[in-house]
Amino acid sequence: MVRFTVLASGSKGNSAVVSGGHTRILVDAGLSCRELFRRMKLAGEDPAALDAIVVTHEHQDHVNGLAVTARKLGIPVYFTESTHRAWMRWLAPRRQMTYAQWLEQCRRQAAERRAETDAPEEDAECEDPGCEVQTVQPAEPAPPASPKEDPTWLPAVEYFEAGRPFAIGDIAVSPFTIPHDAADPVGFVFASEGVRMAFATDLGYMAPNVKAQLKGVDLLLLEANHDLEMLRDGPYPWSVKQRVLSRVGHLSNDAAADFLASGYDGQAAYVILAHLSENNNLPELARVAAERALANRASLLANRLLLARQHEPLSPISF
Ligand SMILES: [Zn+2]
Ligand SMILES: [Zn+2]
Repeated sequence: MVRFTVLASGSKGNSAVVSGGHTRILVDAGLSCRELFRRMKLAGEDPAALDAIVVTHEHQDHVNGLAVTARKLGIPVYFTESTHRAWMRWLAPRRQMTYAQWLEQCRRQAAERRAETDAPEEDAECEDPGCEVQTVQPAEPAPPASPKEDPTWLPAVEYFEAGRPFAIGDIAVSPFTIPHDAADPVGFVFASEGVRMAFATDLGYMAPNVKAQLKGVDLLLLEANHDLEMLRDGPYPWSVKQRVLSRVGHLSNDAAADFLASGYDGQAAYVILAHLSENNNLPELARVAAERALANRASLLANRLLLARQHEPLSPISF
């Protein structure tokens, strides 16, 4: 059976579970491990059954519980190489090392991963390491990394590239580049048992390659981040408003509706509006904009429209 469960969506954390055949994948781990497990159980998903975690990009709302969750379950994490690198910089900003030292650490970690057969236990909640940026400068040799002392240690790391589909067990994964201000951000189309599910949030705009990826999907999870007027009149500083509105920021209700009205093929049985801002949007505004867009195309009324939530999981969608 193919199943899609949104555990959380919004600027305070994003995560979903995709199941197909005998495989279960966690898409992003933006909540603490404990909260992810709590929500999985609420939604009837078994954390111990997860086979892998795939990561869209390194922003905190997508990776907050990543290391703890991967360690606890002893499962691999799939990143692009640039995202992995950016995540490590974010997690260990105070460790200063040269590029050569960093490469040496990666080699050592890879060797350790090969040598390790079982994953270490880690009970601590994920700590916010802060986000101060420090320049890389020659430093003393880095201390030997071990799973306990290295916050970037993972049981296994697998690299993928946008535009190159790969498989995790019974699920085919097609990562595609999205316009967003991260190192190498991606959206995904997951396919299993003939069902295709698209995951597209954190989009500055509906780029042509993204539109192309969202054709012929049975489930479409699409960002409807903000209402333009609420953002304009809202509490964010001007610089942040500019960032959200930019071509590498987030998709507005209107932009999502424009796509549903004119760029979308109407194939999905489910359209899920996602990554709604709690400060600059209201669920009803997002819903009305999308409903109006779909209503203008009578053929699309069979699409079920759902809104992903920040503070509770959606009921699993089964195919
Ligand atoms: Zn982001
Ligand atoms: Zn995000």
